[in-house]
Amino acid sequence: PTRLIDGKAFAQRLRHDLREQALALHAQAGVLPTLAVVMVGDDPASGVYVRSKIRATEQAGMRSVSHHLPGHTSEAELLGLIATLNANPLVHGILVQLPLPPQIRRDAVLDGIAPEKDVDGFHVVNAGRLAVGRRDGFIPCTPMGCLMLLKSVRPVLAGLQAVVIGCSNIVGRPMARLLQQEGCTVTMTHLRTRDVAAEARRADIIVVAAGRAGLVRGDWVKPGAIVIDVGINRVETPDGARIVGDVAFDEACPHAGAITPVPGGVGPMTIACLLQNTLQAARNTVSAP
Ligand code: NAD
Repeated sequence: PTRLIDGKAFAQRLRHDLREQALALHAQAGVLPTLAVVMVGDDPASGVYVRSKIRATEQAGMRSVSHHLPGHTSEAELLGLIATLNANPLVHGILVQLPLPPQIRRDAVLDGIAPEKDVDGFHVVNAGRLAVGRRDGFIPCTPMGCLMLLKSVRPVLAGLQAVVIGCSNIVGRPMARLLQQEGCTVTMTHLRTRDVAAEARRADIIVVAAGRAGLVRGDWVKPGAIVIDVGINRVETPDGARIVGDVAFDEACPHAGAITPVPGGVGPMTIACLLQNTLQAARNTVSAP
């Protein structure tokens, strides 16, 4: 029987635990974990994400400070704000919501965040730490959540064949590196891969983050494979708009040993992992010599 991986319930438990830990850190060390959320411009989707991150932070017993800058903000102005936040000892995590307006270079901004406050894990130093197998950096939240869900059904991943479909810097690439650290044999596939389906069929684990509704068909899934669907795609149906993943869920389900639904799978884990990184950043300021 196929096991449905309930990311929503997992994330709820994790957020509950993080709240206990945050309150304890505050009570024992006097440190109130604080996340600064920076948004530039008025992209509606970004606004939704930012508000839910702020709400989740506060529900988890942490503090959030939000900075909403106008769409015409210059790169220098944004870097100035980030420098101020870097220097503020009461701020432990800094998150700049993407995408940024065209006059601002994304990489310059991400690399302007102090690596020890980079709770999204997008700074090149944290990406580099992950790439060389060090465990002392911040790991991007979405792949971190995917790994937690994987391990909830299969605690030891060593020796398994894993295929990652899509290799963006925020999901696929760090996902592949995490799986490799767990001892998987990892194949990274992308738009220019000749036969993604053939790669997928060999895999014990499929993680897909391509942003293509229904990309992974039923016959791509080896019997018993674990399927983690990161995709968030809005599709129009006769009954209105729906959110679907990158997996043709009804087809894949009978083949998979375990599978994440969309919504209710990976999505809720991303914010929970952001909170975990923020708590970690706050803790690190206590244990530092
Ligand atoms: P992206 O557009 O930056 O990268 C997509 C990757 O998929 C690229 O490497 C591209 O080469 C590859 N790709 C595209 N079509 C392909 C195909 N037909 N076959 C093989 N590879 C293909 O996307 P992203 O930012 O990594 O996001 C991917 C998806 O995950 C989107 O649907 C996004 O909304 C979703 N997402 C979800 C969460 C979450 O919290 N659940 C977080 C981030 C992104």
